[in-house]
Amino acid sequence: MSVFQSVDFADHEQVVHVADAASGLRGIIAIHSTALGPAIGGCRVYPYADEAAALRDVLRLSQGMSLKAAVAGMPFGGAKMVVIADPRRKTPALMRAVGVAVGRLAGRYVTGEDVGTTVDDMAEIARETDCVMGLPERLGGSGDPSPSTARGCFVGIAAAVRHRLERDELKGLRVAVQGLGSVGTNLCRLLHEAGARLMVTDTRAEAVEKAVRSFGATAVAPEEIYAAEAEVFAPCALGAIINDATLPRLKAAIVAGAANNPLADEARHGAGLRARNILYAPDYVINAGGMIQLGLERASGLDWAEIDRRIAAIGDTLGAIFAHADQAGIATSAAARARAQARLGVRQRAA
Ligand code: NAD
Repeated sequence: MSVFQSVDFADHEQVVHVADAASGLRGIIAIHSTALGPAIGGCRVYPYADEAAALRDVLRLSQGMSLKAAVAGMPFGGAKMVVIADPRRKTPALMRAVGVAVGRLAGRYVTGEDVGTTVDDMAEIARETDCVMGLPERLGGSGDPSPSTARGCFVGIAAAVRHRLERDELKGLRVAVQGLGSVGTNLCRLLHEAGARLMVTDTRAEAVEKAVRSFGATAVAPEEIYAAEAEVFAPCALGAIINDATLPRLKAAIVAGAANNPLADEARHGAGLRARNILYAPDYVINAGGMIQLGLERASGLDWAEIDRRIAAIGDTLGAIFAHADQAGIATSAAARARAQARLGVRQRAA
């Protein structure tokens, strides 16, 4: 296993292995870029099969954070931390050891919540370092970022519908939602309030039943969601779900949801969606709402009006990316990457 030879290495500034014998911490922090400011990104606790799998994940996710912050115009770089552990066995001591490791990077990395961590874990980390975002509301933080992520996705779906279907209204729009966790459920609520018709799936039957009850949604089996008769497919569960097997089955005109890295191969499947005239809202643009909430809180204190304004701007950013992709005859994933890299590149040269 080599960092430099990994296919996911993207000229990362710093990749650090961290360990603490007493708490059992084994983790990796990857700082992709600090060109635009301190690098932000969540701390993921996951029982990776091996160290190589953890390294791949942290390299990929940290680069994604740089692109996300750059496209959203935030004064931050991108990073991520992964901890190789079963989140069900997490202890306060483990999270405090995470805090010590983050603190040693002296402000270059600011951590936050991610898969396998909670706002209460952030409170433990905060006992060791102030380089942490998303503290619980009882400690003066802005709390769970998922509702903001869902709001950004909602705004992004509206922008995609305007561009691809030339419709301003979501009333009657059919949306297939994959994954009814924190973001998916909040997104369903917003879509239901706007009059959309929902088709939903999850591997947790109780989540599906709740969506059927609360939002009048139609339940769909997990494998059938790709072929659902809907205008919009909103992936809000796993990555790599648009792949050689699923792409030909899609019936939707739009793919727009919260999941990170939904394209198994960004370049190839981005081009494949374009070839089928399916409009793709790039993940790190449409799912930036939570990062905007936490980043703005960190940069300038809690100002919900400003957070709302910046989340609403996700629609304009996507509109500009869609227009650029049309003009240049390229995939929207390529247009988004060019926009992010231009922003990172300009600042890097100026530094
Ligand atoms: P979550 O863990 O709360 O929800 C994920 C849901 O997907 C769960 O209900 C799970 O049962 C379901 N699921 C798992 N496998 C499935 C399958 N094969 N088919 C259908 N459903 C399946 O996660 P979340 O916080 O809601 O995030 C959803 C996605 O959005 C993730 O990819 C995450 O990385 C991404 N994301 C989240 C945020 C945020 O603020 N929470 C921000 C940016 C990106």
